[in-house]
Amino acid sequence: MSILVIGSVAFDAIETPFGKTDKIIGGAATYISLVSSYFVKPVNLVAVVGGDFPKSDIELLQQHGVDTKGLQIKENEKSFFWSGKYHNDMNSRDTLVTELNVLGEFDPIIPDEYQDCDYLMLGNLAPQVQKTVIERLNKRPKLIVMDTMNFWMDTALGELKETLELVDVLCINDEEARQLSGEYSLLKAAREIRSMGPNFVIIKKGEHGALLFGEEDRVFFVPALPLEEVFDPTGAGDCFAGGFIGHIAKVGDTSFATMAEAVVKGSAMASFCVEKFGTEGVIHINQEDIQRRVEAFTNLVRLQ
Ligand code: AMP
Repeated sequence: MSILVIGSVAFDAIETPFGKTDKIIGGAATYISLVSSYFVKPVNLVAVVGGDFPKSDIELLQQHGVDTKGLQIKENEKSFFWSGKYHNDMNSRDTLVTELNVLGEFDPIIPDEYQDCDYLMLGNLAPQVQKTVIERLNKRPKLIVMDTMNFWMDTALGELKETLELVDVLCINDEEARQLSGEYSLLKAAREIRSMGPNFVIIKKGEHGALLFGEEDRVFFVPALPLEEVFDPTGAGDCFAGGFIGHIAKVGDTSFATMAEAVVKGSAMASFCVEKFGTEGVIHINQEDIQRRVEAFTNLVRLQ
């Protein structure tokens, strides 16, 4: 069951109350593809970087089973750069810099070998590019999951709504769900967003867990695991998405029950991410670690 991931592959500079990084490897598609590679292989990546992107980081993706044939390298251009600063509560952040660079003109070319993908993960990226990827696939995947952020609601709302009509699942955070729907209640927000296209909506609430909404107002909730160390929430949403689509692709079923399990897997993967800076938290784990983390989630809500 192949997964096709598109999204940013980037340099990030992050500041949290616990420290600051120079430019490190980041980007939505980086986190998503690394994490989903723990569930299925290969994970096929369509993205773009500049000539400044280290070969060693591309090799890191490959070592995890990520196929990078679809990763374009624009030798004379610069990679996408994002910088963010987290507030003391670590739940909210300010974007300090967004330099689109190679992403500004990104034309997503899908290698022929990627055409028969069953599961498409549209990571955070210009909605027009996300839509182009759907249009360039010869057959519609079984499931299309989309992530987005307030940046695109502010700068490309019309295109975002057009893309939303084409997808099955939208993953966003609570603040973004409120902005997109104009509703404060998350129940109403999810209903409104579902009326825009996606059959399922996942609303992430940072350290307060995540909600899955489906047909007939069905709701499933997963808390976040209380952690001793939260160093850097960057990429948590993408790791959630990687675990979510990874589990669905592994099971090969898109029912509400499987999606609910996938929300638990996504939450477990996000919990690894926030414990370290950048991608560090998700590159050195193994299947046993994942299994133990998922059990910790189950134990958290089980009556003994
Ligand atoms: P998350 O913390 O899950 O929202 O994802 C953070 C990642 O999103 C970072 O690694 C950034 O490189 C990437 N990112 C931030 N802004 C954008 C944007 N406008 N388009 C695409 N990716 C972005």
